[in-house]
Amino acid sequence: LSTGDVFRAAKCDGDPSPALSDALQAMSRGELVADGVVVSMVRERGGCLRCMGGFLLDGFPRTVSQAEALDVMLTDRGVTLDAVLNYDLPIDEIVSRLSGRRTCSKCKAVSHVTARPTKVEGVCDVCGGALAIRDDDRPEAIRVRMAAYEESTRPLIDYYSSSERLLTIMADGPPEEILDRSLKALAEREKAAEN
Ligand code: AMP
Repeated sequence: LSTGDVFRAAKCDGDPSPALSDALQAMSRGELVADGVVVSMVRERGGCLRCMGGFLLDGFPRTVSQAEALDVMLTDRGVTLDAVLNYDLPIDEIVSRLSGRRTCSKCKAVSHVTARPTKVEGVCDVCGGALAIRDDDRPEAIRVRMAAYEESTRPLIDYYSSSERLLTIMADGPPEEILDRSLKALAEREKAAEN
């Protein structure tokens, strides 16, 4: 469950509620959406936490208050978090990844102007749709996002490291390598939990 994807999908829905409309405006500016809105949205999709194959939360929680709400949801459903993945990358590299990211306005495939360029500039390789820059990938919104991370999300490192579930993964290199590192770290964590 990716909370960012749910908000982006809601943007295309047409007639958002006032709370959702506020949330989408905050998102375009690069700010975090209010905890109450995010938590209600995840709670409405609480069935995801009981999926047969397990679940992966992407971009949630992003504040300590969301983490506390998640703990309650998990306890209510009798499930636990196996691990929390913390991707680590120097700030310059984060800014270059975000500012070069392009998303297809039709099929949502993601490319990057230098790291994964499309064959024809501005045109999606998958469906031929026009490529767009996410509102929150613009320089002024990126600055706001980085500040929001420092203020509200970084404290989660302490929140989760005390329970030994935190796995910090270096996020340099191509996606395949980062996936490989993540799977290895998860496998090691599983092995350690069994012993
Ligand atoms: P993402 O796709 O995860 O990068 O999220 C894009 C944007 O959606 C964020 O910059 C926030 O504006 C909003 N958002 C997504 N998840 C959350 C969350 N857990 N808490 C607050 N805002 C969120």
